[in-house]
Amino acid sequence: MSAEALEQIDLRGLTGPQQEGWNCALCNARLFADRSLGVYRVVSCGQESRVELWACRPDCRTAARNAERLHAGRPRLPGWAW
Ligand SMILES: [Zn+2]
Repeated sequence: MSAEALEQIDLRGLTGPQQEGWNCALCNARLFADRSLGVYRVVSCGQESRVELWACRPDCRTAARNAERLHAGRPRLPGWAW
């Protein structure tokens, strides 16, 4: 995990689906291929919990382009894996 990824995450702004690993923690897209961003400490209402956050694989831009290609019935870009 890079320090760069850490800075991009605002834990307070994460939605339920993002914390549960359904949506990308960085761009909030529905995840089809994902990568772990690591486990983060989240404090809400005085309760501390640890959540593993997930993001688009291989990265948000490529995943978004692949989602478009999938809709258009075109072959996926390299790096896309189920
Ligand atoms: Zn993303």
